[in-house]
Amino acid sequence: MTSVHDSGFAALDSAEFPAFAPGTVWLVGAGPGAPGLMTLLGYHALGAAEVVVYDALVNDEILKWARKDAEIEFAGKRGGKPSSKQQDISLRLVELAKQNRRVLRLKGGDPFMFGRGGEECQALARAGIPFRIVPGITSGVGGLAYAGIPTTHRETNHSVLFLTGHDASGNVPTGVDWKKVAHAAPVIVMFMAVRNLPRIAETLIGHGRDRDEPVAVVSNASLPNQSIHTTTLEKARTSPDITGLPTPALVVVGRVVEMAGELDWYAGILRENSLG
Ligand code: SAH
Repeated sequence: MTSVHDSGFAALDSAEFPAFAPGTVWLVGAGPGAPGLMTLLGYHALGAAEVVVYDALVNDEILKWARKDAEIEFAGKRGGKPSSKQQDISLRLVELAKQNRRVLRLKGGDPFMFGRGGEECQALARAGIPFRIVPGITSGVGGLAYAGIPTTHRETNHSVLFLTGHDASGNVPTGVDWKKVAHAAPVIVMFMAVRNLPRIAETLIGHGRDRDEPVAVVSNASLPNQSIHTTTLEKARTSPDITGLPTPALVVVGRVVEMAGELDWYAGILRENSLG
């Protein structure tokens, strides 16, 4: 059921999208940054929502797709600093839904990848509020693609490990079994890890990870100011400067990093005024 625009593009029929009912919450992933990486369902939801509660890492360009009369609320958390408390955000979503509004909770990347989407959904479920999840492209996969780093590559890794580099207080997480992590997968993708990178590198080396293993720090992935810093575990361990690299950033440990040199397609691209 598609029609065709004058431009020749197939238009999407809004009747094909699920209805955004009043009194429900849609938890939507905005993707890693480039607006074009948001899903069609997410785009459709922005056009219908009456309230948008968004995260710190959501690109402002995406908010322009919200209805002109929509109420836009910031509820971000950034770099472990206390802003809105998680419980307050969850309660706010419940409160807005109880006002019988169409509530869109917009989060960077994918809501269920280190995005606390699970906690918010639990709060909604327990309050009896109907909700829908619209997954997003996580920066941990899509952001790396913009740096020319495949998350898996047949010659280098058959598995991958996603890890957070800090706990609720900003420290290296102690609940992680670092000995197992060091040997668990040939590729480790770390979120929120730049500040603690020297200590994480030391811990991984201490548990037997090869000190010469390549490491990439991908900052502002998929955005015009994207940058890639490559190093080794040993150099990451001994260079305090690495903690000053721009954030948000992903840290990738593993041989897939070596592919960035050949596959860094985004480096030569005119990055202004585009969806991605
Ligand atoms: N739900 C998000 C992750 C939220 S945690 C997702 O799926 O991507 C926040 C962390 O995500 C940041 O500290 C950083 O490690 C990573 N991140 C998010 N957007 C990023 C971007 N554009 N470039 C690099 N890292 C990013």
